[in-house]
Order: sequence, then structure tokens, then C-alpha cells
Amino acid sequence: MIEFKNVYKDYGQNHALKGISFSVKQGEILGFLGPNGAGKSTALNILTGYLSATAGEAFVDGVSIFENPMEAKKQIGFLPEMPPLYPEMRVGEYLNFVYDLKNCKISRKQHINDICEVVKLSHVKNRLIKNLSKGYKQRVGIAQALIGNPKVLVFDEPTVGLDPKQIIEIRNLVKMLGKEHTIILSTHILPEVQQVCSRVVVINEGLIVADESIETLTEALEGTRRYIAKICGAEQDVLKLLRSLPVLRSADVIGAQDANSVSYLIESDENIDARVPLFNALAAKGYAIIGLEGVDMSLEDVFVRLVSNKEKREGGKRR
Ligand code: ADP
Repeated sequence: MIEFKNVYKDYGQNHALKGISFSVKQGEILGFLGPNGAGKSTALNILTGYLSATAGEAFVDGVSIFENPMEAKKQIGFLPEMPPLYPEMRVGEYLNFVYDLKNCKISRKQHINDICEVVKLSHVKNRLIKNLSKGYKQRVGIAQALIGNPKVLVFDEPTVGLDPKQIIEIRNLVKMLGKEHTIILSTHILPEVQQVCSRVVVINEGLIVADESIETLTEALEGTRRYIAKICGAEQDVLKLLRSLPVLRSADVIGAQDANSVSYLIESDENIDARVPLFNALAAKGYAIIGLEGVDMSLEDVFVRLVSNKEKREGGKRR
């Protein structure tokens, strides 16, 4: 339904997108996750036709956004980070205004009533937008995105600045809309992705560093044993040895503890107890393990690792 192919965006000397590719299938709710400044808004603004790209290709339902922007835009409803609301307008008036802007052809009254019903705005249709709470303003923003019944909905940080109750309501609304629409939900909040999305693309410094189903990510976490090992010996030599051990899935330096020892995060398959082979292999080379503790890793930790510069130097995604 959505395809991004090698999209670049430069703001002068600032390379905001450095060749990103990802796709979203029909009916998916994709979490577009990354820290502030990662390039999420830039990518979404390109997708929704608000910004041009420096290079690359992007398609919505097979229609090129760059070659046929008017046609592509019809398939997309966009809730930007700052929804384009007019505070002096009443809710109903504003939705009629957007209906005209989009040159919508669906039966006007019925369509606007239906949308108000879905996003639970019917009882505030005559209220001035400026007098609504932030949560309700966000609903109005979502309502305008729904006008024209687009196949794709793009939400840029829809829960930022809302209180906890409003956050739950908006997340539930996004989930519900996901039954009828393909959705991209941009956020920097990991639990939001876990609760709402079926897949996640992680972006950092203009590069995609992960593209996974939520299940794969969770399964990978569950199927792995992790330890922090404190080992005496030259860092690069120890690391090389650790990475050569068949019982380990991965090994990474996580910090020098003192002059003599270095801490490593090591991972093995859940079914393997790597501790004895690890001890034997290190002892054979004269390296001493002076600490070994098991660690629980959350999705949050994985996210932090994915977006750390170190990870990127090593080639981004790895498990
Ligand atoms: P995110 O939405 O993930 O927070 P953005 O897409 O807003 O990230 O920003 C990506 C990078 O591009 C950042 O370094 C940001 O400072 C820069 N940037 C965004 N918009 C502009 C602009 N209009 N002019 C120059 N730089 C920009």
C-alpha cells in the first residue's frame, strides 16, 4: 500500500534522510519509531506530499507521490504534529470547510455525521474549536484526516501533550481505525507501538535501523539469555574470542569497568547454558571472568541499542 524506495532529504548541509526504504502492507498499523530529530516528520511530510524529496521514489497504492501527487494525496489522510485547526471555527463548520478543501464527493451530511460518530465528536459539533480540550482538538484533527475516507492514515505523534486518559482514548481510536485503514503511526514512545502496532520501523539519524513485526521483536527477546560479563584482558582480543564461541549468539562491549576489566553484553539461545563453555574458553586463554550476571532486557533496551551510534557503526540491526 505504501512504498518508500531509497528516499533522501537534505536541508542544505543537513542530511535528514539518508536513503530510507520501507513498505507498509494493506491493513497494517505500522509504528514509525525514532528519537527526536531522527527524521520521522521529514519522511511523513514527504509521504503526504508536504515536502519534496532530494532523491528516491515513494508510492501510495501504486501511485507515485512525486509524479502524481494529487492522485496519491487523495489516498492519504494526515494528522500532522500540529493539526491545521482553526480555533475560531465550530467543529462542524471546520469539518465542512475541510470537506470543501478536499473536494470530497461522498454525501456531505452523512459522511461528516459518520466521522463525528466514529471519533466521538457528535456532541461537540457546535462548539468552538478553541474551547475544546487538547484531547478533543486531537479528535477534530483525526476527523479532518478521515474526510474523503482515505485508504491510508498517517498520524504524526498523535498523543504528545495529552493527559493519560486522553492518551488511552486516542490509542484505542487509532487501533479501531486500523480495522478499516492502513495506518502509519509516528511516535517516540515505545509502549505506544507495542500497544497499537503490528509492525515497527525504527529510524535514527536518517537511517532505518530496524524493520520488524512486534511479535518477532518480542519473541527474539523472549528466546534469548543475556548476561553481563566482566572479563580481564585486552578488549579486542577478548571480544574476538567471545564472538568466535558457538554457544554465544552475540557479544558487545558495554564499558570499561577499570584498568583491568571490561564489561560485555553477551547473548545465547534460551535453551543453551553458555556459562561453563564460556568459562573454559576464557580460562584456556588466560582471561579471568570476575563477574557474570544475568540481565532482563525490555523492548525499551532494544530500542536504545538500536538507536545508539555504536549499533549503527556495526551495521544497524542485529540479534
Ligand atoms: P523527527 O520528526 O524524528 O523529530 P525531523 O524530521 O523533524 O525529525 O528532523 C530530522 C532532522 O532534520 C533534524 O536534524 C532536524 O533538525 C532537521 N530539520 C527538520 N526540518 C528542517 C527544516 N525545515 N530545515 C532544516 N532542518 C530541518
